[in-house]
Amino acid sequence: MKNNVIADSGQQDDTKEGLDNTSHPGMSGSDELVPSRYALRVGEIDVLVVSDGLLPIPAETIASNVDATVRTAWLDDMFLPPDMLDWPLNVVVVRSGGRTILVDAGLGADPDLHLPQAGRLALRLEAAGIDLASVTDVVLTHMHMDHIGGLLVDGMRNRLRPDLRVHLAAAEAEFWASPDFSRTSMPPGFPDALRSAAKRFLDEYRSELRLFKAECDVAPGVVVRRTGGHTPGHSVVRLASGADRLTFAGDAVFQVGFDRPDWHNGFEHYPEEAARVRVGLLRELAATREPLVATHLSFPSVCHVAVAGDAFRCVPAVWEY
Ligand SMILES: [Zn+2]
Repeated sequence: MKNNVIADSGQQDDTKEGLDNTSHPGMSGSDELVPSRYALRVGEIDVLVVSDGLLPIPAETIASNVDATVRTAWLDDMFLPPDMLDWPLNVVVVRSGGRTILVDAGLGADPDLHLPQAGRLALRLEAAGIDLASVTDVVLTHMHMDHIGGLLVDGMRNRLRPDLRVHLAAAEAEFWASPDFSRTSMPPGFPDALRSAAKRFLDEYRSELRLFKAECDVAPGVVVRRTGGHTPGHSVVRLASGADRLTFAGDAVFQVGFDRPDWHNGFEHYPEEAARVRVGLLRELAATREPLVATHLSFPSVCHVAVAGDAFRCVPAVWEY
């Protein structure tokens, strides 16, 4: 990490979050022992990966199109529990050309779903010295609650600036007017929670929306591009500056997606298309050797993609201290 502006401003106030830290029950008041932000640079672009926390999901969600025995064997191989998994939730802050861009917003708070380990974003931005009023743009990879919920928590809209721009694929806004869950396989309660979060988001942020069709230049070297698949308007963010590149893949890639890119994730609304998008992106990144970050890969999720026979390998990047 090279003297990063975002990282520098983040050193000042760990204690605030430490006082309200859920990652170590019984240790409130101590400094946070597990890091929740990671800064890197992509050429002239500053990037900060921030953890919104963890989202517990039933293991069957990772593969709706394979037998339970096959899934359980994979989980066992990966030293993962057979029943409930913790999904990491990564959000990214990007600074380029004088703009501060929040890419996705975490889960927020949904009292009905009881997910106390997620929804940490606002606290963690504050602990990183990032004032919400400094955010000029929000880019949404898609409108699932674990990506927009942070915008819906009490008081959030008022802390964001009035001239905020929210970039979203037009196809995504259109989809959520009448969403199709017929191909999904989500845990109970989720479809309703997702529907209502999407509706609230469209109601509350309609006037801030900057809808794009295929892609949109958000700031110098920052492009959001629609992929479809996971949802019809699912998009990825491509960063490019000098010779450096980084892709934020949103939900195009899950942990299992490297080994088993053809397994359908229960949150995918169009699973065959989602698998096609995943394979295309992983192939491209393996060929170009460009790094990747993604929402549900283990924090901070910075990795490279390698080809492994018919599938792929995730090669974690060495942390830059
Ligand atoms: Zn997600």
